Amino acid sequence: MRDSVIFKIENDIAVLRLCNPPVNALGASVRKALIEAAKAISGADVKAVVLFGYGRCFSAGADISEFGIEPPAGTPTLPETIAAIEDLKVPVVAALHGFAFGGALELAVGAHYRIAAAGTKLGLPEVDIGIIPGAGGTQRLPRLIGMKAAVDMVANGTRIDAARGHDLGLIDEVSETDSFEAAAIAYAMHLVAEGAGPRPTSKREDRLESASEAMALLDEIRTSIAKKAKGRVAPLRALDALAAATGGDFAAGMATERAIFLELRDGTEARAMRHLFKAERAAQKIDDAPTEPPAEIHKAGVVGFGTMGQGIALVLARAGVQVTAVEIDPARLEAGLASLKKGLQDRVDRGRMSPQQMQAELDLINGTTAMSDLAEADLVIEAALENMDVKTDIFRSLDGICKPGAILATNTSSLDLDTIAAATTRPDNVAGAHFFAPAQVMKLLEIVRGSATSGATAAALMALAKRIGKVGVVVGNAFGFVGNRMYHRYTWQAYFLLQEGALPSDVDAAMQDFGFPLGCLAVGDISGLDVAWQVRKAQRAAGDVDPDAPYPVVADRICEKGWFGRKTGRGWYSYADGKPAADAEVAALIEAVSAELGIERRAISADEIRERCLFALINEGARLLGTGIAVRPGDIDVVWRYGYGFPLWRGGPMFMADEIGMQDVLATLQRLEAAYGPAFTPAPLIAARAAAGKTTLVD
Ligand code: NAD
Repeated sequence: MRDSVIFKIENDIAVLRLCNPPVNALGASVRKALIEAAKAISGADVKAVVLFGYGRCFSAGADISEFGIEPPAGTPTLPETIAAIEDLKVPVVAALHGFAFGGALELAVGAHYRIAAAGTKLGLPEVDIGIIPGAGGTQRLPRLIGMKAAVDMVANGTRIDAARGHDLGLIDEVSETDSFEAAAIAYAMHLVAEGAGPRPTSKREDRLESASEAMALLDEIRTSIAKKAKGRVAPLRALDALAAATGGDFAAGMATERAIFLELRDGTEARAMRHLFKAERAAQKIDDAPTEPPAEIHKAGVVGFGTMGQGIALVLARAGVQVTAVEIDPARLEAGLASLKKGLQDRVDRGRMSPQQMQAELDLINGTTAMSDLAEADLVIEAALENMDVKTDIFRSLDGICKPGAILATNTSSLDLDTIAAATTRPDNVAGAHFFAPAQVMKLLEIVRGSATSGATAAALMALAKRIGKVGVVVGNAFGFVGNRMYHRYTWQAYFLLQEGALPSDVDAAMQDFGFPLGCLAVGDISGLDVAWQVRKAQRAAGDVDPDAPYPVVADRICEKGWFGRKTGRGWYSYADGKPAADAEVAALIEAVSAELGIERRAISADEIRERCLFALINEGARLLGTGIAVRPGDIDVVWRYGYGFPLWRGGPMFMADEIGMQDVLATLQRLEAAYGPAFTPAPLIAARAAAGKTTLVD
């Protein structure tokens, strides 16, 4: 077995190299080896110690595979390991290159001196996974860089580079040379020659503000952190841990930090984040996928070069896939290519991509009006009009043109996949590839399986999702699939709330406070309110709307006015100066609808808004699980994270349901059903699980 820490003594300098590829995670074997090295150094005749990372970085920090698992008895913890390094009686230099994050930066601040290669990235990103640094980071960092800078790194998770670290006093020396190792050893020798001794950070007081100053600063910052945290606990608890560094008692501060770390590690927020991390991986598993990996897609076709077609072509080209875009309308084809080019040129102008990259992407996209140019494509994604006749015509042609085995996918948001597949002689090769707008930005790809879609076809699309940087989730064929079907329930609650007394900003603010980047009414204004209006009209015409169930009249009335959102300058908000602003005429329209429906408007609390919107999501999600449209609860949470910006630290609607527990979910739904009707009639799965005494949606 490879040594986890390579240890050598050269010219009276002990050189330690963390060696745990790929990122030198500080797992149990590394910690043990560091303790042993510290012991060996105590008994050896060395004048200084230099601690390097082997390979491309110093270290990425804690080993996440150890999360939630108790290490074997006798394994040293990271705080103990760092204490052993800090206690050494000769100067210890941490030599940082690449990056030092989390536990690795804590190890570095536990050393006595720090040298970093120019450009090295430094950070304590623990708050991003719902915890705080648990190995002295909150206690030692303020002693090195003062409380203000420490708050930014610890509570905001801000990453800095070596130069900024130097300005702050975190890094003693920045090395610009190509031979960083030699520079670090020379720095250690220089310290020895200068007679510099060990300099334990835990004993330093020179950079830390007085206790009263530091506490005043923390109090001042708390309000702005709380506002940004939107209900997250970790950033605020990080301030509590930092506060414990001000008392002058290092051991007591460490004990406080540890207690907060453990509380957060086992708390909802961190579990929610770990749940999503695991759910994202689990979602990639397709039970009936063939054992051999799918053939790589080299050539793809996109049919329809409008908003979505252009975005899809771009993400494919970005991943090196050659794209042929087929557009029925030559003028739209030209316009599409020009707009694509303009979008890329903007990125070049803003320094986001090089002119060479832009050219390489453009070279991979060819436009045509001839469907027959798709004969060689391994995959075709159709993104033409949302109309069944148009789509079945296209699939019939594709079936005649495309080579055997080619995958034929549709980006439809709502049409029945089986009807589309039936237009071909290869329904096993037909699937949905439901991208979200803007396709270049949104990470979710719903991979829709119809009744005939093969495991191989789904697996090929899953592999493609990964290659183009998307998160794929396999879903069944139902109106709206998983994401939009649930979203529809949420927006309808929002409309009902408007009819009962809320204003658009009340609804959106409540959901933003919960942690969504935007509320659903503001989102509706961006995508255009007319899109859902057309769908409602079609559903009513087809008799798909229950005449006895509540109907969101207000959403029709606003469209009848021609107020479709941003593109018409007014929707739920008005956009006189480009930004959404509350609009008196919209408020009047909403109030008129309440009067029309005979509803006496009342004050509606943010809690009620959140409860109704979230339970509408939970209930519909459980229905989708119960009918097998969603495979796993975690799949739904991944859809909501990446398709709709569900806050990471809340885990997703299904995670929330499990946290609440089935009995309480059922009781709440029953209460809401009595007040607001069938949208809240408990999903059979919830009723069955609660009756069976289970607390979660699945075992
Ligand atoms: P769009 O109107 O911007 O573009 C559609 C393009 O397809 C047009 O340029 C049209 O000329 C072209 N077209 C029509 N018939 C064609 C044919 N037979 N052959 C080739 N080209 C043809 O529409 P869009 O917003 O890009 O939507 C495309 C599809 O993606 C729809 O099915 C839509 O439901 C779905 N979708 C849209 C969004 C969204 O937010 N816009 C999100 C997910 C899915």
